[in-house]
Amino acid sequence: MMRRAFLSRIGYATAGSLLAAPYLARVHVRSPPSMFLFGQVPLPYAFDALEPHIDRFTMEVHYNRHHAAYVRNVNDAIEQEGIVVGDAKEFFKGASKLSEKARNNGGGAWNHDHFWQGIAPGQVEPPGRVREALRTAFGDMEGFKRAFTEVAMQRFGSGWAWLVERDGRLEVGSTRDQDNPLMDVGAFQGEPLLALDVWEHAYYLKHQDRRIAYLASWWNVVNWNAVAMRMR
Ligand code: MN
Repeated sequence: MMRRAFLSRIGYATAGSLLAAPYLARVHVRSPPSMFLFGQVPLPYAFDALEPHIDRFTMEVHYNRHHAAYVRNVNDAIEQEGIVVGDAKEFFKGASKLSEKARNNGGGAWNHDHFWQGIAPGQVEPPGRVREALRTAFGDMEGFKRAFTEVAMQRFGSGWAWLVERDGRLEVGSTRDQDNPLMDVGAFQGEPLLALDVWEHAYYLKHQDRRIAYLASWWNVVNWNAVAMRMR
């Protein structure tokens, strides 16, 4: 039994490396049952539930096309490259060793789920412990919003703005492309509490080039209960 498992692992790795050859590109390799794959969590609200702050068309394109493609492509990379990890955190911890395809699409898959869970219809006030932690780190709510807005606006090109918890303290920062603070790459790391997608695809249909207008809308739908649940 052990020998069989060993041989199938070897066979799998070999098939994975052969896939680099273009003539084998369409061969389908079956994943071992234990293999971790990314999923796309169903949206916890309707596409139009965040109107007028985030419009239905943007949500549909963003979730059904952009996000779905990241999930499809990272799982494709996991299968092709024979990446074996237990969960997403382990996947990101080894980001420096991943291919561009696995890293970019893995980030894209996970970041968007985090983003969708971090917004919700209806105004939600920050629970007391969130407010308290923000006050400690940024002076007050306005101080936090200023700091977050600054990192979101300063991110050149595509990327994400984050509120993270690190060593018991809240910090804001941004990552490029689909990187995230769970990855072992880049200077900004921590436990993600809140994410804002600042790729143009997140706002261009409604706001065109005005990222600041998108930010102003997004504050109205931040799900502070999700932030509270993510805090240690
Ligand atoms: Mn996006």
